[in-house]
Amino acid sequence: MTEVPLLEVKNLDVEFRQRRRNVKALENLSFAIRKGEILGIVGESGAGKSLTGAAIMGLIEPPGRISGGTVSFQGQRIDITPEKVRGSDIGMIFQDPLTSLNPVKTVAEHLVETIQFHFSLSVTQAHLRAGELLEKVGILPERIHAYPHQFSGGMRQRIVIALALAAEPSLIIADEPTTALDVSIQHQILQLLSGICRADKAAMILITHDMGVVSELTDRVAVMYAGRLVELGPTSEVISNPRHPYTKGLMKATPSIDDVRRDLDLPQIPGQMPGLEHALKGCKFHPRCTEALDICAAHVPDFIGNVACHLTHAEYRKQTAEGRPE
Ligand code: SF4
Repeated sequence: MTEVPLLEVKNLDVEFRQRRRNVKALENLSFAIRKGEILGIVGESGAGKSLTGAAIMGLIEPPGRISGGTVSFQGQRIDITPEKVRGSDIGMIFQDPLTSLNPVKTVAEHLVETIQFHFSLSVTQAHLRAGELLEKVGILPERIHAYPHQFSGGMRQRIVIALALAAEPSLIIADEPTTALDVSIQHQILQLLSGICRADKAAMILITHDMGVVSELTDRVAVMYAGRLVELGPTSEVISNPRHPYTKGLMKATPSIDDVRRDLDLPQIPGQMPGLEHALKGCKFHPRCTEALDICAAHVPDFIGNVACHLTHAEYRKQTAEGRPE
């Protein structure tokens, strides 16, 4: 029997009403995540990564809406019955810890309130649990009565992680969880987060623009460009053999782990991602693609063999034809 994915996104479309017309911000997006797996969603700013997380969490508000496709959690549609799972089964960690914490509440109040919302526990029991959660994220339980402003940025993000873990979710969506932090502590927080997921056998969707982070922490990676999925696969395969020209560009722009000087002048992908207002035909990457074919500006490439690229498909067809016995 085939295993039901923990989360399955199928042919998802999200559109926004802009200047009296509907524009697609996510288009025909499909991917799944298994229990305990860490999936990276990577792409430049504007690729639709955060919007994907928001769509899964049911956080899209007018003028945006899910206009097609489905989101299922353990086989149950959550795009139509979001209250059934979100919040208890899926935890979300946002970029800026300050937006997730109320400055006039202590850490204890944040955690106890969240724990009691999800479990029938007394205040004393919830306090004990809160202390355990703080220990888990590397904060001394004695600091439970402090306010968010009494912690550093990195410590505040640890509190946010503890809050996301309070409901014991089986999936965590972490949206650029270290962007607002100093470079020196970004690595620690990401290691902490992935370590907890591995230990608790929780799955995670890690949204990032950083291929280095993806290569270090994720099992599989979904590469997005202008609201579409362009490549998907096991991280080791995508990193060692990127097939989509956009993924290749991202890889070239990422310093390797062995580079001593991480500030090397690495080749950037020329041009910019098209905004929602630009209704480009064909492959949306074609104005920036150095390998574009004539067909690319006219037809959207299908997502075949985990890649959406006319060139990759043509090369594959050629190889298969050449390899065919006479
Ligand atoms: Fe480049 Fe064409 Fe592939 Fe798009 S479909 S990435 S333009 S080769």
